[in-house]
Amino acid sequence: MPVPISLLVDDSCPLIHVLRNHWEDVHGRVPETAYGTRLLDVIPNAFLDRFCEIVERWGVAGKFSIVPAPAGKGDIVRGIEGFPPETTRAWCETVRSRLSGRFDFCPEGITHNLAVDLETGEYFPQGESKWSQTQTRQTLTPYLIRELRYLKDAGFDATGVTSPWVFGIEVEEEYIASIVSAQKAVFGRDFSWYFLHMLPDQPEKRPWAAMRNGEAILVSIPTTVPDIWWETIDSPRTDRAFVASIADRAITADGEGGAVRRILDAGGWPIFLSHWQSFFSNGLETGLSVLDEIGRRIHENLRGEVEWMTCMEMARKIKDEG
Ligand SMILES: [Zn+2]
Repeated sequence: MPVPISLLVDDSCPLIHVLRNHWEDVHGRVPETAYGTRLLDVIPNAFLDRFCEIVERWGVAGKFSIVPAPAGKGDIVRGIEGFPPETTRAWCETVRSRLSGRFDFCPEGITHNLAVDLETGEYFPQGESKWSQTQTRQTLTPYLIRELRYLKDAGFDATGVTSPWVFGIEVEEEYIASIVSAQKAVFGRDFSWYFLHMLPDQPEKRPWAAMRNGEAILVSIPTTVPDIWWETIDSPRTDRAFVASIADRAITADGEGGAVRRILDAGGWPIFLSHWQSFFSNGLETGLSVLDEIGRRIHENLRGEVEWMTCMEMARKIKDEG
């Protein structure tokens, strides 16, 4: 039986560069790359087309986050502020038509920035992750319902939930109960998944059932391969040697080395973490070239040994193991 392999894409959303928008809060300085160029404000729709081409080419599967109201600048239902609503609609339509076959969709916070006061529509002073750590199921459930409703209203089936940063990690039992209730409330679903845990130092890890309670099953999908694409944000290099050197960390050209090989040897499932901005590489799209190269290397070296899977497909395997 081939081992599941998967790509989890965080921070994706129409037009807004979420990192650029929360950078100053997190880093306390102007949003710039390490080589001194300003982080771009906008990730254009054409970039999504190029991402789709590459994942289609290599049969890549996984999950694709959709931040519903990124940075609080409009949302996926009414449109992103400063752009015609058709631009947001077109982005959503491309995601639906080209990615739904091989990717699960999920929200990742509401804003991926400041937490929203659901009563007033104003913002709390804390980011969503910080805010979440002191909450209970009484406040987390409506928050997750709001996240899921945005996706439903924009025409997406959200089969799971992604945690912005480490949302809910200090109150994980409450968070788990809230995800289960929110999925039931919005989509009538008893079986779903969530992504919270990044475990690059535990190559033997596989997803696990975080909760089994009668009909309800929630599977925790961890990442086991770190975001090797991230450093393309901070480099002006786009040459083949640079692209190959980054791809090597995931899988070497001969298939004998890199994180994927280590994980397979340890008996784990290679589950990649990446971010929309890591593929965008501040407009150079070097990250997409790295993804293309990794897709090719996996296709050429690991065919039969691994099989690209969505989060739901991995969750189903865990469910069936009992
Ligand atoms: Zn994120």
